[in-house]
Amino acid sequence: AILADQIAAGEVVERPASVVKELVENAIDAQSTQIDIYVADSGLSLIKVIDNGQGIAADELELAFRRHSTSKLHDKNGLFKIRTLGFRGEALPSIASVADVTLKTAMTDGQGMEIEIRGGQQLDKKIIARPQGTEVMVRSLFYNTPARLKYLKSPQTELAVISDIVDRLALGHPEIALSLHNNKRVLLQTAGNNNLQQTISAIYGVKNAQQMLPVHANDLDFAVEGFVSLPKLTRATKNYITLLLNGRYIRNYQLTNAVIKGYGSKLMVGRYPMAIIALKLDPVLVDVNVHPTKQEVRISKEKQLCELIQTTIYQRLATENL
Ligand code: ADP
Ligand code: MG
Repeated sequence: AILADQIAAGEVVERPASVVKELVENAIDAQSTQIDIYVADSGLSLIKVIDNGQGIAADELELAFRRHSTSKLHDKNGLFKIRTLGFRGEALPSIASVADVTLKTAMTDGQGMEIEIRGGQQLDKKIIARPQGTEVMVRSLFYNTPARLKYLKSPQTELAVISDIVDRLALGHPEIALSLHNNKRVLLQTAGNNNLQQTISAIYGVKNAQQMLPVHANDLDFAVEGFVSLPKLTRATKNYITLLLNGRYIRNYQLTNAVIKGYGSKLMVGRYPMAIIALKLDPVLVDVNVHPTKQEVRISKEKQLCELIQTTIYQRLATENL
């Protein structure tokens, strides 16, 4: 079982940022309103995610570390209407197979449990007192997979990837107060007041956020909500286009192109807009079960959605004196 977990880890846990992503997604799924992320040495010596969500029941603690065990899918049909970020039940066992994991959790204030797992083996389990929510601490990541360690980029790059992923998670969830710290330095702090523009401000700076134009539109299947930069001001790269699908950050070539096409000839050559586009749609229209990291998805009526995005942006820019 540990070997299977390590194989799955190869797909789910590529680098420190993958651990951060999976842990924060779990915290989001647990209905947290506050999530604090602490990393040391770009995540290699420590990744700690603390949430104030619903917690894990004491008798489900070991189950959470078992492969393909998820509390989020209740029947086969669930797979076709996924509302949670996780559902495969692979993250915790994968992470615990390549690191030292200490998880503390409580469903009610005061009555908590702590469990420690290293290299897939349970070391300790005890009753503790702690506030409601969950804290997952990951140390010595990849200690038993030296090849993985060698393949990692410089600490600065790994930290940049962590920061990027946390930014997108924050943009997908402006209702959650999210913070990211590296070696005691605060890299991000969002208010959690459900204001997307303020979240953009926390990430890209007040000036950028204020210069962006709000867009919104919908048709029978999709609702589009977001902010786009003025074409002349933008100094962005393609990386500054964030697509969120029911709060999940996704990568999608066609949709990204639809955003760019919405600018028509207004963009200077070689320039990309900055855009945060949050899409709401019925989960039956999305297949998120394409890749273990779930960043790649298949959308039914994708063409229709592309057109909606493109025309929404085009018409919004047409009303401005540019
Ligand atoms: P998945 O998210 O796909 O269900 P994971 O391996 O990421 O699988 O997590 C396994 C289970 O552990 C989850 O289904 C959930 O029940 C529980 N869990 C993990 N992290 C948290 C958390 N921060 N708060 C509450 N429950 C959690
Ligand atoms: Mg998960």
